[in-house]
Amino acid sequence: MTIQIQSDHRILSMQVMDVRFPTSDDLDGSDAVHVDPDYSAAYVVLHTDGGPEGHGLTFTIGRGTEVVCAACRSLAPMVEGRTLGEIVNDFIGFHRSLTNDSQARWIGPEKGVIHLATAAIVNAVWDLWGKVEGKPVWRLVCDLDPEQLVELLEFRYLDDVLTRERALEILKEKAVDRDRRIDELMEHGYPAYTTSAGWLGYSDEKIRALCEEAMAEGWNHFKIKVGQDLDDDRRRCRIVRETIGPDRHLMTDANQRWEVREAIQWMTQLAEFKPLWIEEPTSPDDILGHKAVADALRPLGIGVATGEMCQNRVMFKQLLASDAIEFCQYDSCRLASVNEILPVLLMAAELGVKCCPHAGGVGLCQYVNHLVMIDYACISGTHEGRVAEYVSHLHEHFADPWRQRAGAYLPPEAPGYGITMKQASLEAHVYPDGPVWRARRQSS
Ligand SMILES: [Mg+2]
Repeated sequence: MTIQIQSDHRILSMQVMDVRFPTSDDLDGSDAVHVDPDYSAAYVVLHTDGGPEGHGLTFTIGRGTEVVCAACRSLAPMVEGRTLGEIVNDFIGFHRSLTNDSQARWIGPEKGVIHLATAAIVNAVWDLWGKVEGKPVWRLVCDLDPEQLVELLEFRYLDDVLTRERALEILKEKAVDRDRRIDELMEHGYPAYTTSAGWLGYSDEKIRALCEEAMAEGWNHFKIKVGQDLDDDRRRCRIVRETIGPDRHLMTDANQRWEVREAIQWMTQLAEFKPLWIEEPTSPDDILGHKAVADALRPLGIGVATGEMCQNRVMFKQLLASDAIEFCQYDSCRLASVNEILPVLLMAAELGVKCCPHAGGVGLCQYVNHLVMIDYACISGTHEGRVAEYVSHLHEHFADPWRQRAGAYLPPEAPGYGITMKQASLEAHVYPDGPVWRARRQSS
């Protein structure tokens, strides 16, 4: 059953903006590897002939955003001139026109800058589709029949682990009580955890105060950055564990800092603080390494989590199928939008791996807010042991900021994919000539 939507809204042009926020001033987002991030985005706007605009972004952390923007511009001819109906009625054909262009694929394929650019553009198409239908994207997906939804997904190279037929079976099984789960989501939301307390650059007093503040708000999961200095990690793990008590969860994140054996030794030293997981212990491309760490730490009760820099669904297939991760942290802007993300969620569901999406960077919470609803309602059918990342800064720049309450994401209500930034925020933060950046140059 293919999708046939009647939208003749034509995309006339694609605007690309380099938008940066000077977050490195306060060390927000700092970790053992990314010591001074300026949260940024390659931001695209699809302008249509009289219809709504489609907004999409991919997250970056400062320098290099201009390269992603250039890649977006080079892909613009695949989008401009097409109607929304033409795209959605052959969504995989459209998706492959971006990911598998006979020349552009050489600088991928499906990885790195070109794939980040693809994500920004396809995210904008989903936003446009949601706005045309008058629905938030998560609701748009939930309202599709399994037969229609499966038509939108990219299963290429996954066949040995998950066939399209098996994916359809999973979607059909979950469709039976999908509406009940949607009602639950409307009432209780989807569990989230906060990273706001745990950046490396923060002082002990600040960590303690932020943990107490977060507990008072109802949060039960707390993640801290590790990997720079073992004594300092032990000290900060102790502060958090003492503050949150034995029953709440502590997670750790090394941001790819270690060699494989070093990761095992280091985390063995932190095991007494009972971390639920170690995130990104080593290179994001090292599937064997992740598996070695996972096997060594499993007896200590520490799971391995990774995925925010996992390039594509094929890499995820290997991590998932080899038991190298217990927690799958897919990223909403590194995978090429909903069409590639849902196959990863389906593989994880099939293999019993828990999806705990990466977020925090500017815009990522907006996307995750939709994706966890889809996962729970249509794919995994459970949030047992699952928790989505949440960071509270920069939400003021969005037209429809995510809704959260007491450690949970609530279902978005505004039509689209939720990423539209306020015009004033975009204009102020355009790099290098927006007023925020011009003023900094003048004062330095
Ligand atoms: Mg991380």
